[in-house]
Amino acid sequence: MLQIKSFTFNPFAENTYVLYDDTLEAVIIDPGCYDKDEKAELFDFIKINQLTPVKLLNTHCHIDHVLGNTFVINTYDIPLWFHQGEEPVLRAVSTYASNYGFPQYQESHANHYIKEGEPVQFGNTSLKPILVPGHAPGHLVFYHAPSKLCIGGDTLFQGSIGRTDLPGGDHDTLLDAIKTKLFALPEDVTVYPGHGPATTIGHEKVNNPFVGQRTGY
Ligand SMILES: [Zn+2]
Ligand SMILES: [Zn+2]
Repeated sequence: MLQIKSFTFNPFAENTYVLYDDTLEAVIIDPGCYDKDEKAELFDFIKINQLTPVKLLNTHCHIDHVLGNTFVINTYDIPLWFHQGEEPVLRAVSTYASNYGFPQYQESHANHYIKEGEPVQFGNTSLKPILVPGHAPGHLVFYHAPSKLCIGGDTLFQGSIGRTDLPGGDHDTLLDAIKTKLFALPEDVTVYPGHGPATTIGHEKVNNPFVGQRTGY
């Protein structure tokens, strides 16, 4: 059975997720840990639960989602996977990290570019990556149909959507991708977003002020 643990890290209040199953193999998704206490919180959870991280995944590569990449890579010696469309997004981070107040940021590099639909496996679990661009050009969400769970990154939030005013962002692209890709998932799928509380596809389909039925779409 798939288990999920969430952390909220860094001044952007970014949600970091650890997914693991009965084999105790795990993936770490979007580690936003930056200071010593945040890194210790992630490290201690993995240690106490005797997990073996096998992959580091980024939904997308904005600074708040990649601050802990190098810590995770150095600590667990695991490969970094994300979509190729995020390569320029990740490369840009080191040019603005200091200005954003993160002078200790250390660059990381992909070991593998995930293609949409390519199974992302750990333990007995297989996640399905779905490309949902618009907030960022190569933004993936990770869907696990058997447990009706989707790691949504900064695509769909409870009552909101990802901002589209950053480089590589496009509002219409995001609206279209949410409606055609995310809203195609079953309504009882829980979305665990990059910021704020979890929600469901069904709830947002009706109530979301940007893409919900009440907006007239
Ligand atoms: Zn973002
Ligand atoms: Zn974010």
